[in-house]
Amino acid sequence: MRGPYTLLAAVRRKELPTRLVMAAALAGIGWWLAPSVWPAAWFALVVVTQFADWAVYRDIAREPTVGRKAAWAAATFASTAVYTSLGAYLWLAGGQAGQLFGMLISAGGLLHVTIHMHHVKSLLVAAAVPHALVFFWMPLRGVLAGDVHMWALVAGAAMYVAHLLVAFRQANATTRQLADERNRAEQASKAKSNFLATISHEIRTPMNAIVTAAHLLRGSRLNKAQREQVEILTDANDVLLSLLNDVLDLSKIEAGKMALESADTDLRRTVQGLHRLWRPRAAAKGLELRLEMADDAPAAVSLDALRLKQILSNLISNAVKFTQKGTVTIRLAAETRDDGEVLIFEVADTGAGIPPEAVERLFDAFEQGEAGTTRKHGGSGLGLAISRRLATLMGGGLGVESEPGRGSTFRLVLPLVRSVADAEATPEDAVAGGEDMLRNMEVLVAEDHPVNQRVLELLLAPLGCRLTFCEDGGKAVDLAAGRPFDAILMDMQMPVLDGLEATRRIKAGGGPNAGTPVIALTANALEHHRAAWAEVGVEAFVSKPIDPRQLVASLTQAATDGAVRRAA
Ligand code: ADP
Repeated sequence: MRGPYTLLAAVRRKELPTRLVMAAALAGIGWWLAPSVWPAAWFALVVVTQFADWAVYRDIAREPTVGRKAAWAAATFASTAVYTSLGAYLWLAGGQAGQLFGMLISAGGLLHVTIHMHHVKSLLVAAAVPHALVFFWMPLRGVLAGDVHMWALVAGAAMYVAHLLVAFRQANATTRQLADERNRAEQASKAKSNFLATISHEIRTPMNAIVTAAHLLRGSRLNKAQREQVEILTDANDVLLSLLNDVLDLSKIEAGKMALESADTDLRRTVQGLHRLWRPRAAAKGLELRLEMADDAPAAVSLDALRLKQILSNLISNAVKFTQKGTVTIRLAAETRDDGEVLIFEVADTGAGIPPEAVERLFDAFEQGEAGTTRKHGGSGLGLAISRRLATLMGGGLGVESEPGRGSTFRLVLPLVRSVADAEATPEDAVAGGEDMLRNMEVLVAEDHPVNQRVLELLLAPLGCRLTFCEDGGKAVDLAAGRPFDAILMDMQMPVLDGLEATRRIKAGGGPNAGTPVIALTANALEHHRAAWAEVGVEAFVSKPIDPRQLVASLTQAATDGAVRRAA
C-alpha cells in the first residue's frame, strides 16, 4: 500500500530537478535586482540542502519511526528555510521590485507546499512555517520601519494565508471522502467474494453427495435407459461441480483467503501422472499427447502440488479442447535466471490458436475466446483467470504465445525451491491395492452432518468397512471408551464437544483407543487449523468435500499402521 509518506516522497523526488532549475532562475533574477555574492551563495546552499533533503527522503518507504519522522521534518524545514531566504534578501537589498518579488517568492512557496505536502501534516507544518515567517516578516519590517501603508500588505498576506487554509481544509475533506468511498467499495467487493466463497462451499457438500450417489448408481445393475439417465446425471454433476469449484477458488483468491501449502513433491512423477491421466482423453480425439522433460528438470522440489496440478490440468484440458488434430506437448525444464532458479512448464498445441487482440482478455474472469464457446465446448471462462492468479500467488507467472491457425503455447514459470528430503508417496500411490485392507475395518465416525454421514457410508460400506456413527464429540469420546476401533474419522465442528477436544480426550484418556489413528475431516484445511489438529495428535487429514481416494488412502495407511502396531 502507498502510504502518505511514500506518496510525498515520490512527488519530492520527481520535483528535485525542477526545484533546482527554478532556484537557478531565481538566483539569476535576484542577482539582477540586487547584484552581490548572496544570490550565488544562496543557490549553492539550495543545491546542498536539496540534495540533503533528497538523501533523507530516500528511506521514506520504510516504517515511519519517530526518529525518521523527525529527520524528514528537519530536512524539510532546513531546505524550505534556505529556499525562502532569497525573499528576505531581496526585501532588504532589491528596492521596490525586489520587495514585490520577495513577497511573490514566499507566497508561491506557501501555495506550493500546501498543494504538495498536505498528505502529511507534520511535514506540511515544517515546510510552511519558514515560508510564512518570511512572508509576514517582510511587510511587518516595513511597518516597524515607519511605513504605515505596509499594514495593507500585512492584511493582504493574512487574507492570502486564510484562503490557503480554507482550500487546504476542503482538499483534505475531499481526499478523506474519496478514501472512505474506496474503502467502502473494497469492503463490498470483499463481502461479495466472502459470500460467494461461503455459498459455493455450502452448495458443494450436497453436490458431492449427488455426485457420489450417481457414481455408485452407475456401478449398479441398470437397463439401457436407466444407464443413459445416470450418464446425463453424472455429466451434469461434473459440469456443475467444476463450475462451483472455479467460483469458489476465484472468490477465495479475490478475498485473499487462498492459502498455499508447499510440501516436498516429486515433480517428475507429478508431471508424468498428469501425462498418464490426460493421454487417453487426447487419444479419444485422435490427438497425441507428448511429454518432454529436460534431463536436468529436478524431481525433488517444494511447492503446492495440488495447485500446480490444477493449473496444468486446466492448460492441458484447454489444449485438448481447442485442438482438432495434431499434438499437445507438455514440457518441463529448469533454468537459472538473475533472480534465482525457475521451473518452466509449457503446454503447446497445434490447435485453433488465439487472435492477438484476445490474448490478454482470456486471463480475465468469465472471458472466453469467442461467443458461443461455452455452448460448443463448455467451460466457464474462469480457468485461465484462476490459473494466472494461482501462478502469481505461487510467486511466478503464466503467459501465452499463440499464432491463429497454428497453435498456442502456454508457459507457466514458477520459482524453483529444491527440497532435500525425498518426496513423500502421494495418496494415489497408497490407494493402489489398498482397498482390500479396509475389509472388516472397524471405523468410528464422528460427524454431525447427515449428508456427510451418508457420503461416508456410500463410500466405505462397499469396501467392507464396518462403520459406527455418532453425531457429536461427546458421544465419540463415550463410544471410544467402550471398545477398540481400527480408525476414527473425526469432524472438526460438532455440537457438545468439537473434534479437537474429543480427539484430545480420546488420546489422553488411556482407553482402548488412545493409540488408534484419528483422521480429521476438515473443510477448512488452512495452515492454522492443521497446526491445531497436529497439536492434539491426529494422524491424517481428509479435506471436505471428501475426496474418495484421499479417504481410502488415509484409512489404508491407518490399517497398515495398525497391522505394524499389532505385530510389534
Ligand atoms: P474455459 O473454462 O472457457 O475453458 P478458460 O479461462 O480456461 O475458460 O479459457 C478461456 C478461453 O481461452 C477459452 O474459452 C478459449 O477461447 C481460449 N483458450 C484457452 N486455451 C486455449 C487454447 N489452447 N487454444 C485456443 N484457445 C484457447
